[in-house]
Amino acid sequence: MDAPQPEADPTQALETVRHELARALVDAGRPEGSARLCAVSKTVGQGPIRAAIAAGQRLFGENRVQEAKAKWPELRAETEAAGRGPVELHLIGPLQTNKAREAVALFDAIQTLDRERLAAALAEEIQRAGRAPRLFVQVNTGEEPQKAGVSPREADAFIARCRTGYGIEASGLMCIPPAQGQVSPHFALLAKIAARNGVKELSMGMSGDWPLAVQLGATVVRVGSAIFGARPGPAG
Ligand SMILES: *Cc1c(COP(=O)(O)O)cnc(C)c1O
Repeated sequence: MDAPQPEADPTQALETVRHELARALVDAGRPEGSARLCAVSKTVGQGPIRAAIAAGQRLFGENRVQEAKAKWPELRAETEAAGRGPVELHLIGPLQTNKAREAVALFDAIQTLDRERLAAALAEEIQRAGRAPRLFVQVNTGEEPQKAGVSPREADAFIARCRTGYGIEASGLMCIPPAQGQVSPHFALLAKIAARNGVKELSMGMSGDWPLAVQLGATVVRVGSAIFGARPGPAG
């Protein structure tokens, strides 16, 4: 199947990914619904997102606070007004400390907690706002210098420090493996870190590799281009 065009109707592609996800769970001997599809709608306009919502999708991922703020309050309101139930929105891109307030107000989960200063800022905003998005610690499994995330060696201490120092609990871990090479070792490493820290959720796998992530225990797969089509400009 050709990749759909960016502004094309994503209904068919979404249906296909959903079926493949259900089958991947069966193949992995995992319970139905134990991995959820996060439709990554960064750079996608409201039109195709509306179509995805109409087709039953409720979990979405965005990588920029400002973009999410421009698109989602309206989409959320109209979805609820139509009696379609709540949308769940995850931040999957880097978060600057000075945007912690907006992020806490806007997102149901923040998957990119990766440093102590951000933990402090989020803890403070969660207190202040009385609203607590679930938090995922991003782990830089490939230890790539240009990539966000705590190093695998520091992950245990960071998770503990979030808990004892800031009173915030990591609900999950997230990783983005290096663009080159095998992804399985990265997914396996993330699963291992989660298990030994008692962390339940694993956000791993994107359009090109999510079935492997499901085999290795992903509870959230983040799929963008396979649903909405290729994004304009450089990937990311
Ligand atoms: C863009 C993005 C995705 C989705 O990538 P696709 O290859 O289009 O599925 C997943 N995770 C993160 C963190 C992203 O930035």
